[in-house]
Amino acid sequence: MTTPDLDAYWMPFTSNRQFKKSPRLLTRADGMFFTDDRGRQILDGIAGLWCVNAGHNRPRIVKAIQEQAAELDFAPPFQMGHPKAFELASRLAKLAPEGMNKVFFTNSGSESVETALKMALAYHRVRGEGQRTRLIGRERGYHGVNFGGMSVGGMVANRKMFGTLLAGVDHIRHTHDLARNAFSVGQPAHGADLADDLERLVALHDASTIAAVIVEPVAGSSGVLIPPQGYLQRLREICDRHGILLIFDEVITGFGRTGNAFGAQTFGVTPDLMTVAKGLTNGCVPMGAVFARQSVHDTFMTGPEHLIEFFHGYTYSAHPLACAAGLATLDTYEEEGLLTRASELQGYFAEQLHSLKGEPHVIDVRNIGLVGGIELTPRAGEPTKRAFDTFLDCWEQGVLIRTTGDILALSPPLIAAREDLDRMIGAIRTALRRLA
Ligand code: PMP
Repeated sequence: MTTPDLDAYWMPFTSNRQFKKSPRLLTRADGMFFTDDRGRQILDGIAGLWCVNAGHNRPRIVKAIQEQAAELDFAPPFQMGHPKAFELASRLAKLAPEGMNKVFFTNSGSESVETALKMALAYHRVRGEGQRTRLIGRERGYHGVNFGGMSVGGMVANRKMFGTLLAGVDHIRHTHDLARNAFSVGQPAHGADLADDLERLVALHDASTIAAVIVEPVAGSSGVLIPPQGYLQRLREICDRHGILLIFDEVITGFGRTGNAFGAQTFGVTPDLMTVAKGLTNGCVPMGAVFARQSVHDTFMTGPEHLIEFFHGYTYSAHPLACAAGLATLDTYEEEGLLTRASELQGYFAEQLHSLKGEPHVIDVRNIGLVGGIELTPRAGEPTKRAFDTFLDCWEQGVLIRTTGDILALSPPLIAAREDLDRMIGAIRTALRRLA
């Protein structure tokens, strides 16, 4: 295949100049594999970008999108709707944690986060507590790239170039603690007490000024940080004590990644609002959503009936193609048992992943469900990361993994076979040995 002119496209989250010297172009996908422009098969170890949970180009989903495009290409989502939007919301509500049965559609994870933050602020205002405006995030949190999500997020590279961000945002500490928790299998034993940071912020600001706290149940983009045992429960208790809304950002953990439909179910903690995207449509049409507790939703429904209860939405909210893709995706997940498949595979996955302990530069391995992180020793004083070199080596071996800083991440499609997992781990092992 001839390489296209690479000049005009300014690529996101990419070192453009480096990339354009040695581009990596994907041209097809099927099941567990991409095909690249050299015709090579690339085993997908990261479900595209944590999203293609049912594997690539599933015929049922493709057909649903094609048929929908031919039938109803677009429907304005304000003051009218189309049947599949209601159908998809009902199906999602049935999968959701107990009581989280209202669904607001967006087009991405970032939009879901902005929507949830605005919902939290408006909720308190409707209740007559409009002074609750403070938002609390967590260090090393990733909540997308828009101003709200960036502000509550806690990854320095995502924030430092963009000014002062939202006012009135604070952060609790992250839970990453190699001294106490390195090589934990599943939830680490130590760190539930870090949730008490929220109490300190309550003491500092007073609960009456705090609207919501947002965390990822498992922080994905900052390196697969699994919540310590009891940590999320403790956050929930503190929120309940002070009337603060708890938002789980389940953009990565949603749709089967941790062994249940949602991380909230795996960890046994129900938030008030929950953001999702990615796996909602198996990655093939952009779509996100916010789940709200019935009680949060009902609070909005108390004003005069002719008023718009939540003055927010997007042109492409509940887009027909996305709804069709979402419904076919849920059919696929349910028929193939994919939402719980990670719980069946996680023992084997953990064993394989932890066999990397002792390989050159590996200072931690961590996992839950079908998501794992491998942390490498940083290279002192050098800009290039060992993790990125490992990524490049794996790519040459025909295996796609993901890196963030000094951490490698694996998050394979939930259809992965044991041999696929073996190959991913094998490629990483080979790359680490070569690097040494
Ligand atoms: N929240 C979380 C937890 C995420 O992992 C991501 C994306 N990786 C986002 C939000 C943003 O999603 P999007 O890129 O679809 O805007």
